[in-house]
Amino acid sequence: MTPENPFGSKAASGSGFGKRSASVKSQSGGKGAQPGACPPARLFFRRALTAAAQVRNLASMIEASPDIAANLAQVRARIEAAARAAGRRAEDVHLVAVTKTKPAAAVEAALRAGQRLFGENRVQEAAGKFPPLKATWPDLRLHLIGPLQTNKAREAVALADVIETLDRPRLSDALARAAEKEGRLPQLLVQVNVGDEPQKAGVLRAEADAFIEACKKRFGPLVTGLMCIPPLQEDPRPHFLWLAACAARHGLSVLSMGMSADFEVAIACGATHVRLGTAIFGARV
Ligand SMILES: *Cc1c(COP(=O)(O)O)cnc(C)c1O
Repeated sequence: MTPENPFGSKAASGSGFGKRSASVKSQSGGKGAQPGACPPARLFFRRALTAAAQVRNLASMIEASPDIAANLAQVRARIEAAARAAGRRAEDVHLVAVTKTKPAAAVEAALRAGQRLFGENRVQEAAGKFPPLKATWPDLRLHLIGPLQTNKAREAVALADVIETLDRPRLSDALARAAEKEGRLPQLLVQVNVGDEPQKAGVLRAEADAFIEACKKRFGPLVTGLMCIPPLQEDPRPHFLWLAACAARHGLSVLSMGMSADFEVAIACGATHVRLGTAIFGARV
């Protein structure tokens, strides 16, 4: 117990927010405080306000991830039912939990509920969130599912287990260069722009066959499948079926398709990976 900290180190560490307690401590100055004396009223109220703020923070954290475990259980049950209805085995449909914009605490809640496979859109965001988690959960797997800039290729190659968005020759070149430097290459999916939408990433349907063949020639068995995001306002089924037929043509086994709004349809059409964010973690702001 020191004059600067009349509550003693036990009280400070017992709060679980050591850093903030320390800042309160330094502000209080400790000028008039004697060992064992009552803290000044000012210090008492400051501590009370800090404690109230901590309770509020905690409450909002809990509110932000009310029942990730329950959502996961529900989603897994729906995946199982959809697989069964399609005459498929549930083990053949993998759930990619999409954590973009969500804090590491949400990822950890999903990890504690048994989820190991995650998807992120942006390399920068994933690089901030996932390496520390991977240190604790070594069987965690990360898929990059967002449009990939060539200047992020090296970081993506170092970070990801699967890159789902290979969609143009320039990115192939960048990934090949990055693989040489990093001494590793993740599995690759070719993203197809199944609606031929001008604003969307992915190789156009008419160019898909040639591009997939070129990727297979270059990267060999690391090219494992195809990925798509159908047009928002359309029935996704014909798009999913198109992608499934394309994968079959090229002897590719992985089909990443289906999101929170349409994953059951995707499973009926042969999806091996469904990418769900909202259904697990709630709406994004
Ligand atoms: C955000 C995102 C998802 C998840 O979308 P939800 O509708 O929240 O399930 C899936 N795939 C990609 C490529 C995404 O960007």
